[in-house]
Parts: sequence; C-alpha cells; structure tokens
Amino acid sequence: MTTPAPGENRGHEQAPHFAQNRPMPNALPTFVQPCGQGVYAVDTGFVRPHFAAAYLMVHAGRAAIIDTGPAPGVPRILGALDALGVGLDAVDYVIPTHVHLDHAGGAGQLMQACTGATLLVHPRGQRHMVDPSALWAGATAVYGPEEMARDYGQVLPIAIERTQVTQDGQRLMLAGRELLFADTPGHARHHHCIWDAATRGWFTGDTFGLSYREFDTAAGPWMLPTSTPVQFEPDVLRASIQRLLDQDPQRIYPVSYTHLDVYKRQGWNGEVIEAGDRAAIESRLAAVAAQADQPEVHLRPNKLVIYKHVAMIMATAQRLGVTKIGIVGNEQFL
Ligand SMILES: [Zn+2]
Repeated sequence: MTTPAPGENRGHEQAPHFAQNRPMPNALPTFVQPCGQGVYAVDTGFVRPHFAAAYLMVHAGRAAIIDTGPAPGVPRILGALDALGVGLDAVDYVIPTHVHLDHAGGAGQLMQACTGATLLVHPRGQRHMVDPSALWAGATAVYGPEEMARDYGQVLPIAIERTQVTQDGQRLMLAGRELLFADTPGHARHHHCIWDAATRGWFTGDTFGLSYREFDTAAGPWMLPTSTPVQFEPDVLRASIQRLLDQDPQRIYPVSYTHLDVYKRQGWNGEVIEAGDRAAIESRLAAVAAQADQPEVHLRPNKLVIYKHVAMIMATAQRLGVTKIGIVGNEQFL
C-alpha cells in the first residue's frame, strides 16, 4: 500500500494548491459547486470529472463533511474549505454515508486534518473505519493493487475515541441546524442517509441511485439504482427509497453528480407535465372538450404528485365538460 506521488492520479490533474493566498470569498475553485443554503458539492475527481461528489455543509461558521470520496480527493475538500473561509478547526463532523471507499476512503486523512472533528458512522461500519484492513483487502481483491493505488491512495485508521455510531432516528445539531439519521440498508447494511431539514434534502450516498447530468432529458433527471454486490438487497433497498420519499424531500444529494431537485410531475397520455401547471392542463382539457367525439383522457400521476394537483385537474375537467377522464397506473400519489 503506497501513496501515489502528487499529480499521479487519474482525474486529479486540477488538484489545488491553496496554502499560500486565500482566494476572495466568491472565487470558488471550479471543482466546488454551491447547492444553496450552505451546501456545497465538491467534485472529488474520482475516476473522471463530475463522477463523484463529497458535500460540505457550512452553517453559522461550523462545518460538516458528508461523504469524503477516496483519499486522493481530500486536497480538494480541504481546498474548498479554505476557499470558503472555513478553518479546519470549524469542522465538527465527518459523516460517511457508508464505508465503501469511494465514500469513506478519505475519512482518515480528513480526521487527521480536522483535529476537532467527530466521525459519525453507521454502527456496522465503525470497526472498518477504526481498522480499514478488511476494507482494503476486499477492494483490492476486486480492483487489483494498481487501480487501488491510483484511485484510492491510502486508507488511514481512525482512533475509536474519535468515532460515534449513529442510531436510526437520531437527531444532531450542526450549530443549530438539525440533521436526522435514517438507517437505509439495501445497497449496503452499513448505510445511513442524512436528512437536512433546512433544505428538505436527503444526503443519500448510494441508496437513492446513481445520477449523472449528462444523461438528463426533458422528461427529467437520469437515475439508475445501485446494484453493487455484496450486500445488495433489492426489496430492502426499495423500502429504504420509499422511506426517503415519505419525508417529501425537495432535494436529493446523491454522491454521483450532483444534487437533484425533486419535481412533482404527472403524465398526460405519456407526455410529462409539471404538476400544478394549471395553464398547460387547462389548454389540453379544453382541446379535448372541444372535440365532438371526446377521446378518453388518461391521467398518470406518479408517486410524487400530490393530491391537490390531481383534484385540480379533475375539477377543471368537470368545469370544461370533459366526459371521459380516468386515473391509470398502479402507483399511488400522496
Ligand atoms: Zn457504495
């Protein structure tokens, strides 16, 4: 296990040199993307640009790091803190969503740099953070030593006294900003997700799925469920995702790049329409009502459409004289 020389890692060509001059507060490095309300996505450079994000939450001068990326991305996280004017002593928490190395591999280096921070980890992941030898051996068996050295660098152990395990339902304050932990197995049994009440957002690690902006279309963001071995449990994962949705999130912060706004959409004969777009709904219903032989209107709300929008459509249809309208599909709206 060796540490690659600086600049040797694929995807890390833009590693920052930040020690000398502090940038102006607004001059964020290109690998830092503000998500609003004190949340920042840091492109860890893992594999390729815009592949994997770590998140910073900065609130009232204190900070939490949620997912760390692998060790070679740590200089970028430290560079982001520096550019934001957040001292290393202001980092209260380092919170890997789970202990896979692309999410937690840099935790040891970050805990060394942020000497006042506590590592918050799922109970099933704690021992691997304290002694990462099994994690390293398991990943090396899959990727081989060359790829491990290039993409994962070195995984450092963390003193158990600096770790705390989380509980399902546990609430935590970051300088008065409430975070909530949910045990979310399915991708891995050592996975928790973190709810940020301020943005109504979930930091989902690998639970919600992989998502890359390059594949988005007008119909919405592209997502793919994660089915990585060895603890992939489809039914359990489905239940965890449903639990995330039950919180009615406005934001999802997946580790794949980067945050998603959750739109509440519905279908119109296969076409996707923003729920609550009264003008779009009304013009379509008026066109239907104007036909001598009215066609059937199939309304296909998805799980995220709220009842009042469906009620608005039904009331509009009645007012305009649409006679054949029905809700199809076996998904329930909220
Ligand atoms: Zn994972």
